[in-house]
Amino acid sequence: MTEKTETRIALVTGAGRGIGKAIAEMIASRGTHVICVSQSEGSCGSAAEAICSAGYSAEAMAVDVSDSASVEAAAKALLAKHGTIDILVNNAGITRDGLLFRMSDEDWDSVVRTNLNSCFYWAKHLARPMTKKRWGRIVNIGSVVGLMGNAGQANYAAAKAGMVGLTKSLAKEFAGRSVTVNAVAPGFIQTDMTDALNDEQKAGILSNIPLKRFGQVDDIAHAVTFLTSENAGYITGQVFTVDGGMVM
Ligand code: NDP
Repeated sequence: MTEKTETRIALVTGAGRGIGKAIAEMIASRGTHVICVSQSEGSCGSAAEAICSAGYSAEAMAVDVSDSASVEAAAKALLAKHGTIDILVNNAGITRDGLLFRMSDEDWDSVVRTNLNSCFYWAKHLARPMTKKRWGRIVNIGSVVGLMGNAGQANYAAAKAGMVGLTKSLAKEFAGRSVTVNAVAPGFIQTDMTDALNDEQKAGILSNIPLKRFGQVDDIAHAVTFLTSENAGYITGQVFTVDGGMVM
């Protein structure tokens, strides 16, 4: 194992709820300081408070990750405070589902901006100090839908597929500086996002999961916690499906 000589600092977007909250909690529990980012102050604030109450270290910041100027301002403030953010987990995401002929430009734009552009904005501002320090971990949370496509989710699937290209390209750009860039592609995970599906839709999905259960947020958090650890330094440019075997 590579010896760690300092407390790492991580930023997790969409840390207010669901998968992002679980990732923030698990990364914090190994002694990393975690900056919890979400859209509303209430949700990232309570996520950071829960981490601190459990005896670990966290702070909260409300940022609209789909807005380039907001991400730039937030990144500048955080770099001024912390020097370097060692670990970036781009997890914030939304869905605006609909068949193509009924999908509005706004539904396309908001999904691509929130799920894909946000990863570009954060990486652009936070990766340079990582490369200077010659240590960094970036994990982008994609989706199996970005690998398989899904009727009614052209916007979401395109954004998540774009994230794969971004991940592999940045992995190549930063490899010489020991900054790794990987993606985790969840299958069906029980969160607010998937609670919106009806029972018929859920039954259809379950029938396509070889492990015969929906995933839990910790299933994703375990994978991300490993990929952002000291021990994962020889893994880059990969997409890890954590999906009960849906994509083989
Ligand atoms: P949730 O809907 O439960 O939570 C989404 C989080 O993202 C919230 O904290 C929300 O902030 C934040 N967020 C949304 N838009 C913005 C924005 N513009 N700026 C800042 N923060 C924002 O999502 P999940 O936990 O289910 O999903 C997390 C990630 O995993 C997403 O990228 C999703 O696409 C992906 N994924 C999820 C799957 C699943 O089955 N659940 C399957 C495959 C992929 P706030 O709390 O303030 O509202």
